[in-house]
Amino acid sequence: MGEANVVIECRDCEFCESFANLGRARVALDDHESEAGHYVDWQINRVADGVERAGADAGICGVSGRENPDSALLDRGQPDEP
Ligand SMILES: [Zn+2]
Repeated sequence: MGEANVVIECRDCEFCESFANLGRARVALDDHESEAGHYVDWQINRVADGVERAGADAGICGVSGRENPDSALLDRGQPDEP
């Protein structure tokens, strides 16, 4: 996924571009604002995605980790049953 992570969007015209890094986006944003005198907004997309994904991965790891103590639960169940 080599998609851009920063999207800049002008509030005053149709100018909209995406960039792979914050520095480039910032330069383009400044350029458009100073050239056109417009207000440009920006969004950071992929960074948020990465954080969510890391969280999901951690969750999956946690679930599979809980399957291992099942054997420990079986051991506990044995003294209870008789
Ligand atoms: Zn504009």
